[in-house]
Amino acid sequence: MSTSNTAGSKAVNKILEAFEKGNIPQAIAYSTFTPPANIPAYKWTQRNRALAFLQGTGDARGFSQWKEAGRHVKKGATAIFILGPILKKSNQVMDIFDEKTGETQHEEIMECVGYHAIPVFRVEDTEGKPLEYLPLDVKALPLADIAARWGIEIKAGAFNGEYYGYYSDGKKEIVLATDNERTFLHELSHASQYRIDPKAEQAPAWEKEIIAELSASALLYMMGKEGHIGNHFAYITRYAEQAHLSTVKACMKILDTCLKVINEIVEASETQELNQAA
Ligand SMILES: [Zn+2]
Repeated sequence: MSTSNTAGSKAVNKILEAFEKGNIPQAIAYSTFTPPANIPAYKWTQRNRALAFLQGTGDARGFSQWKEAGRHVKKGATAIFILGPILKKSNQVMDIFDEKTGETQHEEIMECVGYHAIPVFRVEDTEGKPLEYLPLDVKALPLADIAARWGIEIKAGAFNGEYYGYYSDGKKEIVLATDNERTFLHELSHASQYRIDPKAEQAPAWEKEIIAELSASALLYMMGKEGHIGNHFAYITRYAEQAHLSTVKACMKILDTCLKVINEIVEASETQELNQAA
């Protein structure tokens, strides 16, 4: 184990000790803030959902739709735009046979001749009655200021049933499907590795995942938050198995890089949370 006496290595040692003892609590389930299927955006075309997503939201609605939901658009908020089809009668008639009535109906076919912009407002720009789900509150995430200083944008994304979040170094963004701090710190640790390790891109996935997870675990420990140890252990064990290593051995293999990743975050941190532990 590292003999270095930094707060980061102390935290990592504590976590590995717990892993070694094997007295690990069960992983806990996280809630996601994936909007429920009954929000209007779920009925939009994929292109319109992508348009809203690019404009920073997963839930946008028209002025009166927000009113119906008991919310109103904040003063000074500007609309974002999605596209609605412009339909025109095509002068073509289609015969539609109704099996139930046995009748044939003539229906004029409408064709799409273009698109018009529909103004909608982002949930982030509204207030009022609480929603059935929580929009992402970036400011509430621990160490979110570091992401901002590193030029990384934090965005909300829908839970796909597998990933709670990801970091894209190319796009410099962290996308989260949960406001869980463990997930955020895991993605921030990925970002940190890309900063300190020029070969990060080529590193095997199991290494990167264990580095990110062990770093997140150490950061939470340093902030006095230890409630996720079962999740860290399960996550790291899954990737250690890919490398045919025991959980602790896999951690030892990546320890040096992991401590640098933690250190990069500690140094960037202006909050007292991390520095107190030093
Ligand atoms: Zn990861």
